Amino acid sequence: MKKPSLSSSINKRRTFAIISHPDAGKTTITENLLLFGGVVHQAGSVKARKTGHYAKSDWMPIEKKRGISVTSSVMQFDYGGKRINLLDTPGHQDFSEDTYRTLMAVDSAVMVIDSAKGIEAQTKKLFKICSMRGIPIFTFMNKIDRDTRDPMDLIGQLEDVLGIEAYPMNWPIGSGRILQGLYDRYNHRLTTYANKAKDRTYIPLGKNGDPIKPTPITKTGMYKEAKDSMQLINEAGNQFSEDKILHGKQTPVFFGSALKDFGVKTFLDGYLDFAPKPEPHEAMINSHKSEVIPTNPQFTGFVFKIQANLNPHHRDRIAFVRICSGKFVKGMTVTLQRTQRQMRLNNVTEFIANTRENINLAVAGDIIGLYDTGNLQIGDTIYTGKKDVKFPKLPQFTPELFARVSAKNVMKQKTFYKGIHQLVQEGAVQLFRDSSTHAYILGAVGDLQFQVFQFRMKNEYHSDINLQRMGHKTARWVDPKQINPRMSSSRNLLVKDQKGKPLFLFDNDFAMRWFQNKYPDVKLTSKL
Ligand code: GDP
Repeated sequence: MKKPSLSSSINKRRTFAIISHPDAGKTTITENLLLFGGVVHQAGSVKARKTGHYAKSDWMPIEKKRGISVTSSVMQFDYGGKRINLLDTPGHQDFSEDTYRTLMAVDSAVMVIDSAKGIEAQTKKLFKICSMRGIPIFTFMNKIDRDTRDPMDLIGQLEDVLGIEAYPMNWPIGSGRILQGLYDRYNHRLTTYANKAKDRTYIPLGKNGDPIKPTPITKTGMYKEAKDSMQLINEAGNQFSEDKILHGKQTPVFFGSALKDFGVKTFLDGYLDFAPKPEPHEAMINSHKSEVIPTNPQFTGFVFKIQANLNPHHRDRIAFVRICSGKFVKGMTVTLQRTQRQMRLNNVTEFIANTRENINLAVAGDIIGLYDTGNLQIGDTIYTGKKDVKFPKLPQFTPELFARVSAKNVMKQKTFYKGIHQLVQEGAVQLFRDSSTHAYILGAVGDLQFQVFQFRMKNEYHSDINLQRMGHKTARWVDPKQINPRMSSSRNLLVKDQKGKPLFLFDNDFAMRWFQNKYPDVKLTSKL
C-alpha cells in the first residue's frame, strides 16, 4: 500500500477538548465517542476513573481517593476517516489552569451543557478561554432524556450569556419521559427515540418538512411544537455560516442524551463535517513574527503540560507536546529553544484511550508524551532544522490563594526541594519566595491544588510538609525599579516569582486600592 503523504496525514487530524461544568456529562459522552472509535472494548472504563473502580494503575492515587479527575489525559481514535485526538480536561474548577493550557493545544472545543441546568459557571469561564483563542466551539445539549429547560431558552442563553450566535442543527421532540425523538434539520430527517438503540429509526423529511413515512410521532403535540420552533428559527434565526463557525462566532448546537447514547453519533458526524484540521500557529521564526504551517516538514511543537509519575511504579515524568508542524519520528534529534540544546527523542508515548503505547510516528495535530528527566518546562518549544522557532508563552493565571510551605523534617530538605521544584515545573502550583526571609510560598487558584500538592509530596517524594494557609490575596506584579522599602506594610507582602520578578500580595482589593492611591505612579499588573 502506498504510504499517505505528510499533508494528507495531517489533514486527517482533528484535535479537540470537551469543556463543561462538572456533572454535565463529559465523561459519559467521552466514553460514547471512544466506543464509536472502537477503542473502548469494555464500556465504563472512562467512568471507572471517577467511581474508583480502576482497571489501570495509570491514575494518581488522589484521583482514586477523591473520585475526581485531576489531570488531563489524551485519547486518540479513528472515526469516519479521521484521526481524532481528544484531550481530557479536569472538571474541578480548582484545576482550571490545567484546563486552560490544554485548551491552547486544541483546534476546536466541544461544550457539553446539561439541558436541565443551562449554562453554568465553569462552562462560562472555559468558554471565555476558547473564545479568546477564536477556536470553533460545538455545543452538545445533553440529558434530553430528562425534563429540560425550554430549548428556545437554552439557545437564547448561548447568545445572551455567552454572546455567541447559536445555530441549532437539530431540535428535541419532547424530553424526559415523553422524549419522542429529534427533528434533524441538518440531516433532513427525523430520528425516533426508543430506549433501545436498535429500535430507533431515521426517517427522511419531505419537501413539506414532515417525514416521508408515517410515524405516530407526527400526531403528538410535541412534534408540532418542535416543527414550529424549527420553522421559527428558519425564518428568524441565524443564517448558517461555516466561516463564523470556524472563527468561533457561531456554534452549531446538537441536542441529545449521552447516557442513552441518543444523538451522540449524529453530533460526532456533524462535528466532523466542520471541525478544522490542524491550523497554523503564531510563532517567532528567527526572531520575526510569523506563522508555523502544519504541513511544513520541519518538526515543531510546544509543551503544554508536564505530569510526573503517571505510574507510581515507574518514576516517570511526561511532557505533553502538541505537534504544530511536520512529523515526529522516534529517535529524532530536536533543539530545545529555551536552552538551544539538542535532545534526542527516544522515549515517547502516544495515547490510545487508557493505554499508553510507544509510537514511531506522529504528525502535526497529534499530541506526544515525552519522558523527561527535568529538561523541559511548560511552554517550551522544540524543533528540528536550522530555523529558530519560538511559540508564544502560555499565560498563567494570577493565583488567588497562598500558603507558606516548609518541610516537617528539616533533615529531609533535599527531597522537599526536589518535590517542590518538579511539581512547580509541572504547573501544579506556582512558587514564590518571601523577598526578605526567602521562605517558600505557594500560590494556587483553588485550595484543592494545595491538597493535591501535599498529598503528592508525601506519596511521590516522601516529604511531609507544613502548609500554613495565608488565605486570599490580591497578587500584582511591579516594576523592580519602582519599589522602595517604605512601600511594605502590614497589609502587603513583597515576594518574588520563579523568574525573580517582584510582586505584592495585598491582603485584599481594598489594600491594593489604598496602595495605588498612595503610589499612583507605580504600575500594578495582574496576569490572566
Ligand atoms: P462529568 O462530570 O461532566 O464528566 O459528568 P458525567 O459524565 O460523570 O455525568 C454526571 C452524571 O450525569 C452521571 O450520573 C451520569 O450518569 C449522568 N448523565 C450523563 N449524561 C446523561 C444523560 O444524557 N442523561 C441522564 N439522565 N443522565 C446523564
